[in-house]
Amino acid sequence: MSVGTPSLRPRTGTLSDMAPHEASVYPDTSVVSVGRPERRRGSALNPPIEMSSTFVGVHAPGADDYVYARFSNRTWEPLEEAIAQLEGAPLPALSYASGMAAVSAALSLVPIGGVAVVPSTSYGGTVGLARSLHDEGALELREIDPSDWNAAIDAFEGADFVWLESPTNPLLDVLDLPALIAAAKQRGALVAIDNTFSTPLRQRPLGLGADLVVHSATKFIGGHSDVLLGVLVTANAGLRSRLQQNRTLHGAIPGPFESWLTLRGLRTLAVRLDRAEQNATTLATRLTGRKELSRVRYPGLPADPGHSLATAQLDGYGAIISIEFAGGVTAAERFMEALRLITPATSLGGVETLAERRRRQPGEPHTVPESLVRLSVGIENVEDLWSDISQALDA
Ligand SMILES: *Cc1c(COP(=O)(O)O)cnc(C)c1O
Repeated sequence: MSVGTPSLRPRTGTLSDMAPHEASVYPDTSVVSVGRPERRRGSALNPPIEMSSTFVGVHAPGADDYVYARFSNRTWEPLEEAIAQLEGAPLPALSYASGMAAVSAALSLVPIGGVAVVPSTSYGGTVGLARSLHDEGALELREIDPSDWNAAIDAFEGADFVWLESPTNPLLDVLDLPALIAAAKQRGALVAIDNTFSTPLRQRPLGLGADLVVHSATKFIGGHSDVLLGVLVTANAGLRSRLQQNRTLHGAIPGPFESWLTLRGLRTLAVRLDRAEQNATTLATRLTGRKELSRVRYPGLPADPGHSLATAQLDGYGAIISIEFAGGVTAAERFMEALRLITPATSLGGVETLAERRRRQPGEPHTVPESLVRLSVGIENVEDLWSDISQALDA
């Protein structure tokens, strides 16, 4: 239509009053529909980015006013609403400057001198932070192997706070989360689950009884390796208001552009995850036949020790595979150097496949074998991925 041509569309007409997310039943629809601006004629489909540190106002701020962007701002809200709906929480999520800022906020719930149980198999940053808080005398840390049921139950006795992650990183053990959460709750502990690996599309810990869900949205939720952001979700209003106050005072807030990018990434989470899981299943199955490898861990493999729990507990097996080399660290390093399409890099959950020999990181626990390479499988064509992996194994 050329400029100046009168519009042939009717000037009047009605739009449904129903917000798009109210018409969504399935989570793979919700990732697309939640957090949209109100639907009015001519309104933008996407929420805008507001680059403003402060908001206009007179007299005392009211409860719902926007005053200063560290307290609240409109660019966070669609993302916080979307993650909460996906995790099944009735309250908006809280977003943070990084996953670790969210982890740190969660650990701030441990009372001074209180007891926190953290598995040694948790994300390295989380274990590192918990150890430093222990060394400073801020809390008493009990490190556990979460697959040792009796040791875990002993540690839960008298604990204030229990941290769990399943599947574990990078060994991909699947924990019996409903049983562990129930045991910790019975003993009066607050339970936080790091759900970064599974995303709310595969596992919803609040429904399993957890008090708090933590995400590094840097990984699958953002999905494009171009943003760092963390999220906390709870259904408990008292906890949420403590955490919100803590965030306002500590100031680890995400920027508006980061919030917007993360919401943009979330829109395609369902299709990215489906494709990455299909690729991971194919690759894990083919890797199992390779003589260069002593072990292939992927919960989707029927022979994997975590397979039956994963099938019962998760809505998908994820996109992370761990492989161990029969030829040890030298063979693993040779594999890493021979990769052409797959990028050697830390991190996970992006559209591109990444590989990392985890023990190259000095802080990686020694329970992780020296030759273990973690693959974060992306959404490329699986035959290109397999060609690259098999030529690198041949090298
Ligand atoms: C990456 C990661 C974190 C930390 O998130 P950042 O965004 O890097 O700060 C926490 N937990 C898990 C499981 C992670 O993979």
